[in-house]
Amino acid sequence: MAERRVHLPVVDGAPATAPVATEGTPADAGAPRRRHPPWIKVPMPSKPTFFDVKKRVHELELHTVCESASCPNIGECWSRRALTIMILGDICTRSCRFCDVTTGKPLPPDPDEPRRVAAMLSELDLEHTVITCVDRDDLADFGGAHWAETIRRVKEACPAMTLEVLVGDFKGKPELADLVLDAAPDVFAHNLETVPRLSRQVRVQASYPRSYAILEHARRRDAVTKTGLMLGIGEERDEVAEVIRQLAGLGVDILTLGQYLSPSKRHLAVERYVPPDEFDEWKAFALDAGITHVESGPLVRSSYHADGQAALVRALRAGKGLPAVS
Ligand code: SF4
Repeated sequence: MAERRVHLPVVDGAPATAPVATEGTPADAGAPRRRHPPWIKVPMPSKPTFFDVKKRVHELELHTVCESASCPNIGECWSRRALTIMILGDICTRSCRFCDVTTGKPLPPDPDEPRRVAAMLSELDLEHTVITCVDRDDLADFGGAHWAETIRRVKEACPAMTLEVLVGDFKGKPELADLVLDAAPDVFAHNLETVPRLSRQVRVQASYPRSYAILEHARRRDAVTKTGLMLGIGEERDEVAEVIRQLAGLGVDILTLGQYLSPSKRHLAVERYVPPDEFDEWKAFALDAGITHVESGPLVRSSYHADGQAALVRALRAGKGLPAVS
């Protein structure tokens, strides 16, 4: 599973100044709690569309990373009918230290889930959507076949919608990533999450070279590729710059940069709140380095505002000579 997962108290139109656990190690327990800075603001969900989407998600017994990860943007996104469905259940086999999704022994994949995902998306009538998953290291193909069936059903149900898949690292096995790539999603996304030095600490069972290899493989197959990094987790500026240069050199098409927010005291602490103008500087840097599209800001997540990127995805596909989405 690769989505950015955070927790933030939701407040009604005001800065989210409620205490947040940024003391992410047991040794820090009892330390004074930090407050979010004023630029981290989250509106309270209030629009009827938000509640309609929520009701339908639950009727169809689907999971979303928006809910499972307590994403701070849920009010805004769901009010636009933009959601990120999370397939293969809601229990992850990994225990990344930034992530709020439950770790444990998952149930077997539900063979009816791809149909329900397709049904939900056809009702929402979106131009673009993101689907993600929990990591399934318990399955021989890490969930690749289930992914392929989901993509097939969604493409059948929503032929005019561009589809982005945010996948795990398939333990660096390109032949398993091919199960997804062969199903022809319009964007293949996998998040590096952080810089190489912090990778083990942040994503305990993952490895930076493995993640990089999966992106590299997708890029070699001419897929439109996307990745994301969290800032404020202990990285140094020159480390971020180096990763961005590498990604540009690799030819990654889309990059997201957002503030890490600690889900609880059990998770890694926020090391620093990166101010909005620094996110703007990183955006300019990444564009200068040669990445085509960059979303950068405190509340940016892999799927934040992705629903408005259908035209971009179509243009990127056309630039690579890939078949047009009807
Ligand atoms: S940013 Fe992504 S995960 Fe968060 S609410 Fe929006 S669609 Fe869901």
